[in-house]
Amino acid sequence: MTNITESVGQIKLLYIAGTGRNGSTLLERILTEIPGVFAAGELGRVTRYNKNKTCLCGEKLTVCPIWQAINNEIDSQIDEERFTQLDLKYSNLKGLNLLKLLTHQKELKLSGDFQQYLNMLAIKYKAIHKHKSGQIITDSTIDSLYGYYLSLIPSIDLYILHLIRDPRGVSYSWQRLKFSSSTAKKSWTPQISPLKTALSWVKRNIFIEFMFARTEKYLQVSYEDLVENPSAVVKKIANLLNLKLEPLDFIKGQKITLGESHLIGGNLDAFKKGGEEIILKPDERWKHQMKWVDIILVNLITWPLMLKYSLSQKRQKNRLSTHSKPSK
Ligand SMILES: [Zn+2]
Repeated sequence: MTNITESVGQIKLLYIAGTGRNGSTLLERILTEIPGVFAAGELGRVTRYNKNKTCLCGEKLTVCPIWQAINNEIDSQIDEERFTQLDLKYSNLKGLNLLKLLTHQKELKLSGDFQQYLNMLAIKYKAIHKHKSGQIITDSTIDSLYGYYLSLIPSIDLYILHLIRDPRGVSYSWQRLKFSSSTAKKSWTPQISPLKTALSWVKRNIFIEFMFARTEKYLQVSYEDLVENPSAVVKKIANLLNLKLEPLDFIKGQKITLGESHLIGGNLDAFKKGGEEIILKPDERWKHQMKWVDIILVNLITWPLMLKYSLSQKRQKNRLSTHSKPSK
C-alpha cells in the first residue's frame, strides 16, 4: 500500500500510531532520554492549536527556546494560514475521498494541493531535524492517515511504532473526566462512551495494520509491556531504528528518571513540567471501577483483535526468551 520501505531520506522519524489514551506521551518521555532522540510530541495536531499552546518544559511555544527557533524557521518558509487550510482539508478525509486517495494514489498524489501540503510538512520536519542536529525525531500524532502522508515524503525515513493498549483500559480512560491545562483556555476533555471507544479501537488498529504492518519498518508494542518492562521495550525500539544504545541508566526496573523535555500536544498534564522520577505500574483501574456491562460491551466488540494481539505478544516473548535472557 505505501512506499515506506522504499523511502530513502535523511530525516529519521519514529511515528507512534495507535488509539488515544494509549500511553504514547509516556513512551515519548522515555525515548527522549536516549541520546540522539528528540521526542517532539503530537506534531500533526499542533496546527490545530493556537500559538499559546504550552510545551512540556513549561513555556509557551512562543517562548520555549527549542520551539521558538524551529517555528521561526518554519514561519519564514510557510504561509501558516494556507497550511492550516490544507491540513484541515486532508486530516478530515473520510469515506469516498479517503478511498480515492488510497486507491488512485498517483492522480491524487500529483494534485497541486496535496503536493503543496506534503511539501509544507517536509519543511516542518526538516526545520526540527536541523535545529535538533539531525537527531531521530519521534512523533506521537497517533493518527494513521497522517502517518500515511508522512510515508509519502521522500526526505523522511519513516518507522512505525504501533502502540496498543488493552481496549478496556482505553475505554475506561475516556469515560473519566480529565482536566486539561496544556492550552491557554483550560478545559475538561470530553468523555466518550465505551461503544464509541471500542469501535474506534478496532477501526484504528485495523487501519494501522492495513497501512503499515507489511513493511520492514514496523513494530508492534503493547502499553502493558512498556509499563511492565520498559528497558526491554526501549531495546526493541532501538533495534528497529538501528540505534546503538548506551546503558539505560535512567531506567532501573520500573523506576524511571526523566529529565526536561519539549513535547507538544499529548497528555502533558500527567507529568510535571521539567524533570521527575516515576515508578511505572499497570493502570488497571478499569478492572475495579468500570461497570461490568461496559466491560462486556467492549469485550464483545474487540475480542477478535484482542486475541490476535495477545497471541502475537506471546509469540514475541517466546522468541525473545529462546534467543536471549529477559532484561531486568
Ligand atoms: Zn519547551
